[in-house]
Amino acid sequence: MINLFIKTYGCQANVADSQSVENYLVSLGGVQVVDKEELADLILINTCAIREKAEQRVFSYIGELAEFKKNKSYLNIGVIGCMASYLKKEILTRFDNVSFVFGAKDDLNILKEYLHDLIVKLETIKEVYEHNNIFEQDNKIKFELKKIKRIINSKNIINKNKNLSDLALGGIKNKFLELKQSFINIMTGCNNYCSYCIVPFTRGREKSYPSNILLDRIKKDLDLGVKEITLLGQNVNSYKDPITNNGFEWLMEQVAKLNGDFWVRFVSSHPKDMTIDLLHVMANYSDKLCAYVHFPLQSGSNKILQSMNRTYTIEKYMEQIDWIRKILPQATITTDIIVGFPGETEQDYLMTRKIIEQVRYDLVYSFIYSPRKYTKASLMEDNCPIEEKNRRLQELQTRQMEICFENNLLTVGKTFKTLVEKRLTNGKLLTRTAGNLRVLYDGNDDLIGNFVNLKIQSAGRANLVGSLIK
Ligand code: SF4
Repeated sequence: MINLFIKTYGCQANVADSQSVENYLVSLGGVQVVDKEELADLILINTCAIREKAEQRVFSYIGELAEFKKNKSYLNIGVIGCMASYLKKEILTRFDNVSFVFGAKDDLNILKEYLHDLIVKLETIKEVYEHNNIFEQDNKIKFELKKIKRIINSKNIINKNKNLSDLALGGIKNKFLELKQSFINIMTGCNNYCSYCIVPFTRGREKSYPSNILLDRIKKDLDLGVKEITLLGQNVNSYKDPITNNGFEWLMEQVAKLNGDFWVRFVSSHPKDMTIDLLHVMANYSDKLCAYVHFPLQSGSNKILQSMNRTYTIEKYMEQIDWIRKILPQATITTDIIVGFPGETEQDYLMTRKIIEQVRYDLVYSFIYSPRKYTKASLMEDNCPIEEKNRRLQELQTRQMEICFENNLLTVGKTFKTLVEKRLTNGKLLTRTAGNLRVLYDGNDDLIGNFVNLKIQSAGRANLVGSLIK
């Protein structure tokens, strides 16, 4: 049995990719997932390149793994994902404990074949090691291993019958089956080239997966008892079925028409592709399609939006916010904001603050701009001192927390259908509403993965507290 450990950094698309790889490897047989690196025979690190900090964390994690390789020389460490796309050479040169590097934009079928082959080799190698007490007979075993590898390499033992969807799409994660959540990539890559973003370089051009494969995967997950499906893509609104050309609204409608009591979410949207038709579909199937819209703003200044190559204006963005409020009045709206983009003046920053006051988001993911290699923005003049950027971010986050609290207070006394997610260390059950609000509740473990109706009793900044409604 080969022990697999996967460490995932970054966004939900990466989580789905890791799920896909894990599902694929477990489906081969002879592979089990472990929760500690020291137990693993194969460690996969799925990386993120969106900010420099994320990269530094990956580098120090790879360094820490050298310790495990000392005790188990056949341990294979593979680096996959966004960093692997453009730092392949650096990773391989800097870390001799890394066995292979596979980028997010490379052909997944090649990774699949490589991993299949690797598992077969590892099974044999591990058996030989365990059987022969390798620490005493290292040289003899190394010789044996070379022989075995030669035999394996000479055979074409790659299972080519597996579908691309096994690896590309995601789906329910084996060890989290009890959470009843499934993350499914409906597309990969991005064509937008926002000037600050490295994703088009790490994940390549936009590619949508065929809807028949997606619907098939979703049905399978629902049959396994999944209660919440999250459809993922860098820009889901531009999804186009490669065979029929049907768009994202159509796909959402097909998913909503499937039988069962389940929720569907999606992330992430680009305002330039968000349509009013999608909001109507969400309203028509509101029992299944969650009234939750993550709608990245990035900046409230048209000058900065243009410099970011976001291709919408703040006026257009606010018109779309009006659509959401009218068609889905119960919707929660969240956003992403970058503070301190090159050229951002106090005036530009205050425009962003103004939008926060107007929209009153339920959650804002805000960050200081982080220059990324290859991007246009990394070449732009940036004369705003870091202290000033820190001040802007801190002020913005403080005000946003107050708004979250004010929004949360408005829910007290209302009743929500919620999905029970897990037990927290404070002993409470964590549940989420369709709008993704966190509601804490005192209940039994057997409710995890089920829907319950909760009446909100009190509200804090981050969490609501509810009581069960029979
Ligand atoms: S839409 Fe822009 S920010 Fe989002 S992944 Fe594409 S390039 Fe990056």
